Amino acid sequence: MASAIEDEVCYVFSPNSDSAPLNFASPIHVSPKSSVRSEFQKPRVKITHDDIRDEIQFWDSSVVFFVLGANPPSHVIDGFVRRIWGKFGVDKVVALGNGVHIVRFTTTENRDKVLSMGYQFFDKKPFVVKPWEQSMSVNKEDIKSIPIWVQLPKLNLMYWGEKSLYKIVGMVGKPLRMDMATKKREKLQYARVLVEVSMSQVFPDSVEYEDADGVVVTQPIVYEWKPVVCETCKGMGHSADVCTKKTKPVWRPKVVQQHPSRQEEGGFSGGDKELKANQD
Ligand SMILES: [Zn+2]
Repeated sequence: MASAIEDEVCYVFSPNSDSAPLNFASPIHVSPKSSVRSEFQKPRVKITHDDIRDEIQFWDSSVVFFVLGANPPSHVIDGFVRRIWGKFGVDKVVALGNGVHIVRFTTTENRDKVLSMGYQFFDKKPFVVKPWEQSMSVNKEDIKSIPIWVQLPKLNLMYWGEKSLYKIVGMVGKPLRMDMATKKREKLQYARVLVEVSMSQVFPDSVEYEDADGVVVTQPIVYEWKPVVCETCKGMGHSADVCTKKTKPVWRPKVVQQHPSRQEEGGFSGGDKELKANQD
């Protein structure tokens, strides 16, 4: 793809000599692939692999990440990242915009250790982490499925084993793992399981199962956070019927809203402005 650019360079004006006026020469179809470009072509430069090698090497030990459903300010993100990943040699944490950040580690080995740590959460919201790649674009909107924690209150002690627990939780999403207290049967008020759910699925308040004796039991499901967008405030993580912004007055900073349509875009409140302030 990049090599085609070279073929397309056309010289439309060519000076005959120092004194002579510029002569017009017809545009030439240099490359048959670019038949649309028969009109005047803007001047271009060609960036080679050699030009970008150093930058790729520099960012090779990095990951990009964001918090789904929140847009914490950069200093909060910075503190969080250094707390959970500090021992892996964090070189720098920089905002890329729209709540997406990049963190560079001192070595690719350290980056790989971070990637193998598994699921992370920020204030119960999924913390999505990906290795940095050349020409990657990271959009929160591209996320199709995520891990979330669900609780099963008052679950009968008979069903705390992985087989039955995963069967019940499986009606909500794909079970990934139990939390430690559930595994050890220590906090028996509720069982807690990490499940992979689709961003667009339904999140039922309860599921039904038939017990070993054929009795149908209704089991409530509590979501510590869910990827739903509130109709009222456009925030993420709760539905309109439990929205606190419906009744209570909401504190808003007294600033001139320059982009009213972008406010809380996609439910991610917080400012690009704030994030950009930290980029320098
Ligand atoms: Zn709301």
